[in-house]
This record gives sequence, structure tokens and C-alpha cells, in this order.
Amino acid sequence: MAKVLVIADIKQGVLKGSTAELLSKAKSIGAETAVVAIGCNINMLIPNLVSAGSDTQYVADDPGLELFSAGPYASCVVDAAKKFDANLIWFGFSENSKALAPRVAARLDAACATEITDVMLSGDQIEVIRPAITNKVIQRVKVNTKKLVAVVRAGAFEATKGIAGTENVVKLSPPEQDLKALIKKILTDASGEIDLADADIVVSVGRGAKDLAGVNLVKELATDLKAGFGSSRAMVDAGLMAHNKQVGQTGKIVAPTLYVAIGISGAIQHLAGMNGSKVILAVNKDPEAPIFNVADYGIVGDLFEVVPILREEIKKIRH
Ligand SMILES: Cc1cc2nc3c(=O)[nH]c(=O)nc-3n(C[C@H](O)[C@H](O)[C@H](O)COP(=O)(O)OP(=O)(O)OC[C@H]3O[C@@H](n4cnc5c(N)ncnc54)[C@H](O)[C@@H]3O)c2cc1C
Repeated sequence: MAKVLVIADIKQGVLKGSTAELLSKAKSIGAETAVVAIGCNINMLIPNLVSAGSDTQYVADDPGLELFSAGPYASCVVDAAKKFDANLIWFGFSENSKALAPRVAARLDAACATEITDVMLSGDQIEVIRPAITNKVIQRVKVNTKKLVAVVRAGAFEATKGIAGTENVVKLSPPEQDLKALIKKILTDASGEIDLADADIVVSVGRGAKDLAGVNLVKELATDLKAGFGSSRAMVDAGLMAHNKQVGQTGKIVAPTLYVAIGISGAIQHLAGMNGSKVILAVNKDPEAPIFNVADYGIVGDLFEVVPILREEIKKIRH
């Protein structure tokens, strides 16, 4: 029987949705499930880890683990993977998992696959599906090791309700301090804005918005929709948006329920970051803009006229 260990994605004490998505997928392939949670004062998350579908909860709760540090965190994951004898070790997509996955794979002598969108098991044989070359090809990869460490693409799996597991908590001893890299402080985005990776709706702004006044106009639409606010690279390069807001091949990959692209042409590198969205709405004054090839709904028009109308209509529906 396959044994899947999911690494709980915890940010500032909150369990992120990707944990339940990965556990749901593990259950759907008939695997035995466990989760590893790492941090400080995280015991109160145990009921959430159980209701998300885990049958065993490995918990490394220690003041030394309050701040993310790849070395000690990887040691905790490896410890849990060995104790559980996991053959599949799954991370949701995040900056932290990009740092952890290769370390864990090297220590477990396992294969490492990133950006996976599906996993197939046949006896001991593991195969994964992953898009590559900005989604131009879909690879089906046969894994030649007994164990696989995988980073799953955002939104690849859906969380199912009613698959609660059983509470079986195993405490992990804190790892030794990693003196090669001592993290003193984590500087986070203090803007209080909704994280793009977690947002159910993302509104992104492109070069069509021209300047800061245009950016602020589109940002108001994002605020009305309680959406994450993203952008194309053109706006980041122009210094109008921060790099952590960039969606695309060299930015973030998002897969929200609704993606709204305002004044974005739809270059292949941008599409690579958002074409997994469930519904795409595009506003562009050029009817030939490539974004309309992937959009479910398109509005051909000047964003400076269209966005205020959209805001008015949304207000009417919401009140
Ligand atoms: C290696 C590499 C990596 C890259 N990675 C990324 C990435 O991660 N993310 C990314 O986004 N890009 C990336 N790019 C850049 C990408 O190729 C495009 O240049 C970029 O996405 C274009 O941004 P844009 O759509 O905002 O601008 P443009 O392509 O200039 O499009 C602006 C659009 O706005 C429309 N418009 C103009 N005025 C209005 C108006 N008043 N009302 C409505 N519509 C209007 C225009 O019709 C046009 O379609 C990468 C490029 C390379 C080479």
C-alpha cells in the first residue's frame, strides 16, 4: 500500500488549504496518509490536520522552529518520512518547499519532481505528470526510485469534504541547530494584502494600465472583490508593482477560482502562471490580444471605462 507523507503548509500559525488538497489526493489513490507539521505552538492545529484527512500526525513543535530554516525543517521531514516509511513525500507549492524538497530527496536517496499535476501508481511503480517548457509539453515521468519527493503545482488537486482521518500524534524531537545558516528574522510583506497563492480570486494588472493611477484603479477592483492583486512582468519591470506580485513563468503560479486579467496581452510567459485558473475574465482594448484565447469571458474595451462599470455592477450585486 502506498504511504503518503504530506508536509503541512503553515504560515503564521494558519494551516493553508494546500495541505487538505494533497491529503485528499492521497486518500483518493487509496494511500495510507500522514502529515508532518513543523513550527512553534502548533499543537492547536492537530484537529485541523485530522479533519483534513491524515491518519498520523508527526509534530515538531519547538521554539527553535519558529522561523523557517531549510536545514532543520528538512531534518524534521526526513525524520517523519523514515518513521512513517513513506514512499511518497508531497509538498504544496511555496518558496519554502522549493528549498526543502531537494534537501529531503537527497537525504532519503529519493527522486525529486517539481510542478507535478498528477501521480499514478501501479504496484511499486510511480509515474507523475508535469507540464514543462512553459506548459508547451506535458511530461509523463516514470520514477526509477522506490521513493519520490514531489512538489505539487498550486490548484492541481481539490480538497474533498468528509475524509477526516484519525488522531495519532507522534512528537518529533527538535533537530540540532543548523549553524551553517542561522535565520535571525523573517522580513514579510507588511502590506496586509491577500497572498496570491491563497486567493480564491486574483485580479492582475498589465501595461495597459499605464501608470500608478491606472494601477490604483485596478487595485480598487481587487479590493472590492476581496481578491489577491497581481501583475504582469511588464508592470514589475516598470517599477509599478513589487516582484512578489508577478504572475507567470518567472513569478508565481496561481490557480484561483476566478482570474481577472486587466490590460494584459497574454504572453506565453504570463499564461504559464495563470492558465490553470478555473474561470478567466480578460479586459483588453485589442480584440486580437492572445489573452482572449484562454479567457472564458472577454470584454473588449478601454480598461479606464470598463473597470469603473465593473466596480459599480459588483457593488450592486454585493449590497
Ligand atoms: C524569460 C522570460 C520570462 C518572463 N516571465 C514573465 C512572467 O513571469 N510573467 C509575465 O507576466 N511576463 C513574463 N515575461 C514577459 C512577457 O513576455 C511579456 O512581455 C509580459 O507578460 C507583457 O506584459 P503585459 O501583458 O502587461 O504588457 P503588453 O504585452 O505590453 O500588453 C499590454 C496590453 O494592454 C492592452 N491595453 C493597452 N491599453 C489598454 C487600455 N486602455 N484598456 C485595455 N487594454 C489596454 C494592450 O492591447 C495589450 O494587449 C517574461 C519574458 C521572458 C523573456
